[in-house]
Amino acid sequence: MDLTFSDSELAFRDELRAWIEANHPGDAPKDEDEAYAFRRAWQRTLYDAGWAAVHWPREFGGRDASLVEAAIFNEELARARAPFPANVLGLLLAGPTIMVWGDEEQKQRYLNPIMSGEEIWCQGFSEPEAGSDLAALKTRAVRDGDDWVVTGQKVWTSGAQYSKWCMLVARTDQDAPKHKGLSYFIMDMEQAEVQVRPLRQITGEAEFNELFIEEARIPNANLLGGEGNGWKVALTTLMNERAGLAFGLQVGLKVKLDQLTEEAAARGLLDDPVVADRLGELHTRCEILRLTAYRGLTATMKYGQPGPEGSLTKLMWSSTNQALMQAATDILGPGALVKDSPWSYELLRSRGNTIEGGTTEILKNIVAERVLGLPRK
Ligand SMILES: Cc1cc2nc3c(=O)[nH]c(=O)nc-3n(C[C@H](O)[C@H](O)[C@H](O)COP(=O)(O)OP(=O)(O)OC[C@H]3O[C@@H](n4cnc5c(N)ncnc54)[C@H](O)[C@@H]3O)c2cc1C
Repeated sequence: MDLTFSDSELAFRDELRAWIEANHPGDAPKDEDEAYAFRRAWQRTLYDAGWAAVHWPREFGGRDASLVEAAIFNEELARARAPFPANVLGLLLAGPTIMVWGDEEQKQRYLNPIMSGEEIWCQGFSEPEAGSDLAALKTRAVRDGDDWVVTGQKVWTSGAQYSKWCMLVARTDQDAPKHKGLSYFIMDMEQAEVQVRPLRQITGEAEFNELFIEEARIPNANLLGGEGNGWKVALTTLMNERAGLAFGLQVGLKVKLDQLTEEAAARGLLDDPVVADRLGELHTRCEILRLTAYRGLTATMKYGQPGPEGSLTKLMWSSTNQALMQAATDILGPGALVKDSPWSYELLRSRGNTIEGGTTEILKNIVAERVLGLPRK
């Protein structure tokens, strides 16, 4: 692992930094729908300038950047406190999954509108009785001529209310062993047979939803990776979910820690050994996270796809973010907890970090078995 940037990587970073400075959209509006529209417009601005997903091929709107340049991109965006593009699940999950498993027609049809933000995507994996044990899902798809007819329920579907397409995993063979009877579909959300009901979170937002699917139709051409291959295709999505965010998230964490340190300094609290000790420990954890994110990047460069190391970064990021938010409220006092304080929002939102994208317990199992090579229980 070499942590020094080459001259061309430094030139890439400087060009990007200058571009972000000239085009930063400012702060997002408070209203949820307006904030979403704001992030969508931001994605369009990135796309028009060729920055929406830099390591994607040029033919789909990317700029063929290397993985290191993609990491620089995420770091710079987080450092400038620029918003995440709206179609985050499309860019991080659906796009890379289609690039691996899609046929030529699917690549030509879906990738460019993901990049431009014209078509938003959501992830229909979790069900009321299938979260961590995803392969236990019950939503079924039955072949009917050129279509599949789908019935079932999904839950926690982030962004479904804005989405045109859903990455849907459904059971297509009731008799096969549970991991083998699944298929992965691209489902059109714009049909009456798919009902979206928002779920309101502790933050007050309804970021995710329940999906009720009653005989929805999906053309066979929207099957991704072939019938019965749903588990393998879903794993590609999950690996990208954990690895993809690592760079932006670890810088985002450092930005928030610097902000907390500044606020503590302004209150004269840095001489308090307990405060200094907590901030110091958080700083160390951020550094470890940064280096682990680079290690994951090295593995991706070696093997062509993200590996289970992404689980380690996600695990460390979620516990560190929660520890940081707890420290912020302890150090800054009740002022951090009032409704309009950004810290109170972050504190509440951080509770979900150890559940979303794989719970801490599941990630520990993955790290133990597949990163450390410990025996399975
Ligand atoms: C903010 C947020 C956004 C989300 N967005 C989406 C989305 O867009 N699309 C989507 O499909 N899903 C989404 N999810 C769902 C998320 O992936 C699931 O919540 C997660 O996989 C856990 O599933 P579950 O909630 O059913 O919990 P369960 O699997 O029922 O787990 C309950 C508890 O048991 C523990 N547990 C379960 N199995 C084991 C085991 N084998 N060993 C040890 N402990 C275990 C878990 O760690 C957890 O603490 C989102 C969740 C959140 C919080």
